[in-house]
Order: sequence, then structure tokens, then C-alpha cells
Amino acid sequence: MSDCIFCKIANGEIPSNTIYEDNDFRVILDLGPATKGHALVLPKKHYADLFEIPEETVAGAVKVAKKVAGIMKEKLECDGLNLVQNNGETAGQTVMHFHLHIIPRYKNDGQHILWKPTSPSPEELTEIKNIITNA
Ligand code: AMP
Ligand code: ZN
Repeated sequence: MSDCIFCKIANGEIPSNTIYEDNDFRVILDLGPATKGHALVLPKKHYADLFEIPEETVAGAVKVAKKVAGIMKEKLECDGLNLVQNNGETAGQTVMHFHLHIIPRYKNDGQHILWKPTSPSPEELTEIKNIITNA
């Protein structure tokens, strides 16, 4: 994708703060970090989102995230860590090149990467289960 900024970053055409790189992935520091160390796992090949990316590539991205998470725990001494991955504008995706957020968390970091729970009835949950499983 010639006009995709993450393709250009992943393939080294645009400089970035790279913290890990292998044949298939580059991990960069996010320019608008939620917390200190917020990073993005970018596949070097272009896939828009989770629906497009091949299974083995997304598995590879998670492996890389695990490696980087371990390094962050050791070097940044974070207290926790969120993996976040947005698909589609409705879900908050702003760059349409698959990326996996690695967000180290620190006590009192002031961030809220959680959702507001709702209260469906047991019948509603059963209905949703039946739709998804074709029951
Ligand atoms: P999302 O909302 O999941 O699509 O996340 C896009 C992320 O990319 C945001 O956290 C941005 O801060 C980050 N971002 C956008 N452009 C750049 C860039 N050129 N270099 C590093 N991070 C970027
Ligand atoms: Zn791309």
C-alpha cells in the first residue's frame, strides 16, 4: 500500500523509534502514548485489520508482543500491561494497517482502558449465544 504510513514506517522508509525488529514485524513507540513505553507491533506486510490478517501473522504479532512485554516489565518496571487491538472506525481504529498496541500500566497512571459493563438478561445472553453458534 503505497500511501499507508504504517507500511512506510514498518519497512523503514519513514524513521521511527524502533524498539524491536525481525523479518516480519517492527515494534515502534506510539507518537501519542497512553503511558510511558506505549508501543505498536506493525506487520511489515499490509493488512487492514484482524479480518484481513492471516492467522499465522496475527499469531506472530502476539508472540512479538509477549517478548516486548517481558522487556517492558524488566526495563520500565511497569505494574501491568494491556494489549489492545482496534478494528474498524467504530472500534476506534484510526490507522487502517493492522497494529497491536502494547500499553504498559503503572499504578495511578490515570488511564482507563476499560469498558462500561451492561446488564443483559439471561434470555438476551442465550439469544446472542444462539445467533453466534447457530443453535
Ligand atoms: P488506533 O486508534 O488503534 O488506530 O491507533 C493508532 C495509533 O497510532 C494511535 O495511538 C496514534 O497515536 C499512533 N500513531 C499514529 N501515527 C503514528 C506515527 N506516525 N508514529 C507512531 N505512532 C503513530
Ligand atoms: Zn500498510
